[in-house]
This record gives sequence, structure tokens and C-alpha cells, in this order.
Amino acid sequence: MLDSIRVRLTLWYTGVLTLVLVVLALITYFIFWRSTLQRTDVNLSELSEAFLTTLDAEVKDQSGPDSLKLAGQVAITEHRFRDHVFAIFDAVGNIVVSSQDVPPAAPGSSAGGPLSSQSFQRFLDASSRAERLFGKVKGGKDGYRGFMRHFSSTGKTYVLVILQSLHAQQEMLEEVTSTVAWVIPIAIVLASVGGYFLARKSLAPVVAMSSQAGRIGAANLHERLAVQNDKDELGHLAQSFNSLLDRLSQSFERQQRFMADASHELRTPVAILRGEAEVALSQQARSLDEYRESLGVLHHEAERLTHIVEDLFTLSRADAGQYPLQPRDFYLDELVAECVHSARTLALAKKISLNFEEASESPIRADESLLRRMILNLLDNAIKYTSEGGRVTVACCRTGEEYVLSITDTGGGIPAELQPRIFERFFRADKARSRAENDGGGAGLGLSISRWIAEAHLGRLELTRSDSVGSTFTAYLPAPPSPSASTS
Ligand code: ADP
Repeated sequence: MLDSIRVRLTLWYTGVLTLVLVVLALITYFIFWRSTLQRTDVNLSELSEAFLTTLDAEVKDQSGPDSLKLAGQVAITEHRFRDHVFAIFDAVGNIVVSSQDVPPAAPGSSAGGPLSSQSFQRFLDASSRAERLFGKVKGGKDGYRGFMRHFSSTGKTYVLVILQSLHAQQEMLEEVTSTVAWVIPIAIVLASVGGYFLARKSLAPVVAMSSQAGRIGAANLHERLAVQNDKDELGHLAQSFNSLLDRLSQSFERQQRFMADASHELRTPVAILRGEAEVALSQQARSLDEYRESLGVLHHEAERLTHIVEDLFTLSRADAGQYPLQPRDFYLDELVAECVHSARTLALAKKISLNFEEASESPIRADESLLRRMILNLLDNAIKYTSEGGRVTVACCRTGEEYVLSITDTGGGIPAELQPRIFERFFRADKARSRAENDGGGAGLGLSISRWIAEAHLGRLELTRSDSVGSTFTAYLPAPPSPSASTS
């Protein structure tokens, strides 16, 4: 159950809300209690003023040794309220007059009234240390708030004590507490039910999205999630998911096309191999020459197969990012010269003149065998697609921060509408010719691999010109900083 975000959200929400409400209730209780006490204290202080004024006036009307006692009785009668206790003590702690039984101040006397004698005694003891004093006195139902002050009358010092019962305040606080005690749980229950439905409502699109996403597989990769509101977070999520599906389906389609093209390319040499072998085996008596001829065809097709499989393997490793480059330092101009030398036999066979224009020293750090493969691919194509007696020119120079290696032929060129596609895998502009004249390759993978090689070296490979008088393929490869640049 806790695995559901809805439930977790609701629990978190309820927990935080409960905490906030309880803390709020405690703070409110504390503030309420303090302000009640403050009001009581102000009340007691004012009452004492009024009481002493009355006492003063009454003392003047009395005579004799009990004048203060009599005046006190009159003042008490005048100011007496149901929940107040008045008492006047003399300097040694004897009761002069009191509104009800209070515990005698003198130690050892017997307790009286509802007041706790111990608590009252402590309060009185404190009176010797202060001129005015507020304090709590236990007794009655909820205790008393006590106020004591010294005053002088008839030439002597006395202590006036007024106690106010805290029963009414306590009752009010209890009422507030009991109200809060049922309001908070109800608020929490209501809020958590509301929170659960809110969480459910807000997460409903996610649930819908996940079940929609769960239905999308290889068979219906073209389906997309419905975007309710493209401006909110869930809309963004759906859009991101959809664009992920776009990319996935594109790469899936590419993969499928690649597989279909690859199997198509492999089928032809395999069919030739099988056919040739069947023909050779079906005839009882064949001459040695005929066998040699058949084996020659088998060998040729096997070579072609090997070539295609190697190219496919290179591309699939490149796609998976698993073709580690093995860079080392060498001279690009020397590598180009070597490749031109290797291709010379091919060119000679077609009476094509193959020229490498003199190049200056071109140090480079790269994967030599991959660059060799790229240059040979380009040379091979240039010779393959140039008619007899034509010319292939190779040039290598440095321009700024890069080496520019161009291979120009005098072949028939590539039709303009097909030029953008020649770097695609398995694409052949002139299928019949590319297969008929090749020497074991021609699956339309050469240029894709060559472009990947240039890009793996942070360079690029482009068809810079192609028309009826020939084509130029140019590879741009990053050059190391030139010595003049590094010393300047
Ligand atoms: P292929 O093995 O068919 O040569 P590539 O990937 O090397 O495959 O070349 C793709 C296609 O580009 C070729 O089939 C050919 O039609 C065209 N092409 C490549 N190089 C040249 C060129 N120098 N002149 C004319 N066409 C070319």
C-alpha cells in the first residue's frame, strides 16, 4: 500500500498537517493562558488600589485600637466578590482581618478554609522579600492567583493579600481545549480524505500515461501518449516521452532497414555460392579447368561475403560506440602516398592515370588503419566509377587547423538528386555497375564507413563536386597545432 505515491503523499500531507495543527494549538493555548493570567494580574492590582482607597477612608471614620480591623471589614464588604479572598496581616504575620478563613500566617497554627496552607504560607513568606508580589496559591478547585502588597495605616505596616480563584479561567481554557480536541481530528480526517482525492486526481494523468506507455511495444511504436496540457509538468513529461519514442522508433526503423538491406546484400553472394556449388556437384565428370573455374567463382563470392560481413561488423561496432580508435603519430602525406601506390594496380588495369600531387610533411595523430581504409575506399570508388583512360588526382594540403585530402576523378559523376543519399548505408547510385565492376565489395557501405571514420577523428567527409565531368570527395581532418603557431 505504501508503494503508491497517492497513499504516501496523503500520509505525508496528513502527518505534516497534524504536526502543524498540534503545534498551533499548543502555541494558542500558551498565549491564551498567559493573557488570561496577565488580565487577572491587572485586575488584582486595580482591585488592591480600590480596596486600599476604601480602607483609608474608613480608617479615618473609626477610632480605637481595632480601627483598621473595622475599616477592613467595611472595605471587604464593599469589594467582596464571589471568587475573591481578602486578608490583611500585620507586620508579624497575624491576621488582622480576612474575608474568609485563610490559613493563619503564624507557623504552627491550624489550617483553615479551602486554601492549601503550605502553598499559602510559601506565598506569604515571599512577601517579606518584595513590596508587591503575584503568585500562584494552591487550593479550591483550580487554585488561586495571589497578589500581595505592603501598605501603611495608623502608623504601622501591614500586608494586604488578595486571592482570585482561577476556576473561571480554567473552565474557559478547558472549554477551548475540548473544542480543539475534537476540531483537530475532524480537520485532519477531512483534510486527509480531501488530500487523497486531490492526489488521486493530480496523479490520474500519470496513471493513464503509464498504462498507455505500457501498451506501446515494437508492434505499435508509432503510437504516442495523449498530451492533455502541453504547458504543465505532466504535459512536459508526456512530450519528453513522445520525443523519446520518436527517437526510438527512428532508430528501430533504421535498424530494421539495416537488417533488411544487410540480409538482402548477403543473400546474393550466398545464392551464387550455393548455385555454383550445386552445379559443380551435379555433374558427374567435369574437367579440372571447369572445377577450377567453379572454385574461382566460389572464392570470389566468399571474398565478397567476407568484405560485406566485415563492413557490417565495423558499422555495428561503430554504432554501439565500441570501435576503439588506436591513435598513433604518423605522416598523413606518407599514408596517402602508400594508398595511391596500392591502388595503382587497379588503376593500371583500367588504364587510368593516378596522380598524387606533391604534399608537404603532414604529421597527424590518428588511427592509421582506419584512415588507410577510408583513403582506399575513396580511391577504389574513384577508379571504379571512372571509365577507361580517365584520370584520378589525389591532393593533400593543410588549410588552417585542418588537413584537406581530396580525391578527384573524371568519372560520370553522381546525379544531383542522388547526391544527398550516397552516404546512406547500402545506397548505390548505380546498382548494376557498382556490383558488376567491383572486386569483391560494392554493398553500398564504403562511403558510410568512410564518413564515420572521418567523423570519429572529429573531421568530416563531403562530396564537394560531382557533375558529368567527374566527382571530388574531400576529407577534412583536424591537424595538430603548427609549430609556427605554437611558438608565436
Ligand atoms: P559501393 O560499394 O557501391 O561503391 P559506396 O558507399 O562506396 O558503395 O558508394 C555509394 C554509391 O555512391 C556508389 O554505389 C556509387 O553509385 C556512388 N559513388 C561513390 N563514389 C563515386 C564516384 N567517385 N563517382 C561516382 N559515383 C560514386
